Amino acid sequence: MTDTKKYVKVVNVFLITLILGALVIHLFLSKYINILSLVINLMVIGIILLILFSTMITYYILNDKEVNKHLMKINYTIIRCIFPIISNMGKFAGISKDEIRKIFIKINNAYIYSNKYGFNSESLIILIPHCIQNHNCKLKVTNNVENCKKCGMCKIKELLQIKEKYNTKVFIATGGTLARKIIVDNKPKAVIAVACERDLTSGVRDVKDIPVLGVFNSRPNGPCIDTNINIEEIEEAINFFTNK
Ligand code: SF4
Repeated sequence: MTDTKKYVKVVNVFLITLILGALVIHLFLSKYINILSLVINLMVIGIILLILFSTMITYYILNDKEVNKHLMKINYTIIRCIFPIISNMGKFAGISKDEIRKIFIKINNAYIYSNKYGFNSESLIILIPHCIQNHNCKLKVTNNVENCKKCGMCKIKELLQIKEKYNTKVFIATGGTLARKIIVDNKPKAVIAVACERDLTSGVRDVKDIPVLGVFNSRPNGPCIDTNINIEEIEEAINFFTNK
């Protein structure tokens, strides 16, 4: 099933639940307080219209069609609000949370790519998860990525080369709390965050004031061990933020 079909399926479940919920409330309240049921009806109709609008924009994004950046922004705001509900509704539509998270990151990235930036590469930070480091390596790279001896057994070597080439900052975050601290301490203009679906989604949702481009790590050895990064995606993100 394509991402579009999955998303539409979850939205349908959401809309049906919303309408059924409104009908139940209506049945209990309409006999007694007409004005309240009218307000509920208007609210439900408003929410349904917003969701239909958002689904249409999301459909275009997921199919890689061009979308006006203002519409993209409105849609992104709606998606951020309804994401927790959509994410939980997924199980009723047989769609996993990770699949919904992937869609969220795609919408986030499309929104960021619809804008133009001209940041210095020094003002960017790249956040990577600890599981990128080869599990046999005993070097303490979490405190300082420069402790890497560049043996090439994991992608940290190439990330250091990126760091040197663009003069960006690279940090290894062992969790969400540390990632947030790194952002607060370094005050970057933008973040390129690498992580799995769950960590990336919670990180992107946490940071509201600066753009965060999400890059998924691949997990050829299973979750949280010797994961991998597509270095080209990182370079593309740097070039985009620096308008190169
Ligand atoms: S590149 Fe080699 S030295 Fe550097 S962190 Fe990876 S395994 Fe360790």
